[in-house]
Amino acid sequence: MNRKLFLSLFISLTVILSFSACKKGGLNIFTIEDDKTFGAQMETEIANNPAQYPLLSKTTYASSYAYLENLKQQILAGGQLEHANDFVWKLYIIQDDNTQNAFCTPGGYIYIYTGLIKYLDNASSLAGVIGHEMAHADKRHSTEKMTKQYGLSLLVSIVAGTTSARQIAEIAANLSTLAFSREDEKQADEFSVVYLCPTTYRADGAADFFEKIVAAGGSQVPAFLSTHPNPDNRVTNIHTKKNELGCLGNPSVSTENNGYDAFKASLP
Ligand SMILES: [Zn+2]
Repeated sequence: MNRKLFLSLFISLTVILSFSACKKGGLNIFTIEDDKTFGAQMETEIANNPAQYPLLSKTTYASSYAYLENLKQQILAGGQLEHANDFVWKLYIIQDDNTQNAFCTPGGYIYIYTGLIKYLDNASSLAGVIGHEMAHADKRHSTEKMTKQYGLSLLVSIVAGTTSARQIAEIAANLSTLAFSREDEKQADEFSVVYLCPTTYRADGAADFFEKIVAAGGSQVPAFLSTHPNPDNRVTNIHTKKNELGCLGNPSVSTENNGYDAFKASLP
């Protein structure tokens, strides 16, 4: 490499690193467009794999989707998401009653299992989990983690324009297997409260799931609410955050059902 090229590469790297380091989150060498591209690739993969991801039809179950859409819109309308207008925030229901799970790809493709919906008791609980998943996408935890995993070598190839299509495909494939860090989970819990705070939902709805699991004496905490930090700590953190922000939401458990029972009944 000649000296001039090396110098320009070095400057580019420095600029990227310093810009990224200035952000509130961790270092992320990917762009908003990259997040959307990765999400769209995952959406296609999921759509092409109905054996593993049996998606509920949006036409047959239009009323179920309408309920979720409304819930999502209320979260977005709260005005607390950084990328509310950048990402797609597209919803899918996966028909699997045995899986109490939900996930969100980079760029905002949200997937919710029927097993989770049926396990929960009211709209605030579900809004809490959806808020948590949306926070992972909005805070760009996946591409931030990939930045750590692939490190400087990828950064150099991106800056030098030598990133191959194969490299990108490999990265996209790895996205789904990345586990979030303890800090990411904590941040997603807290931002779930931030997102729900201006809505009519109870802002600490994300804690309901853990409380139910703990109350049942169960040890099976699904991956999306992975065991670290432990459920008790997470419940405390979520309640603390709600008190800190002074969120009002719906204080009455008896009226917070919000048509949730009818929504559950609309599912197959
Ligand atoms: Zn999470």
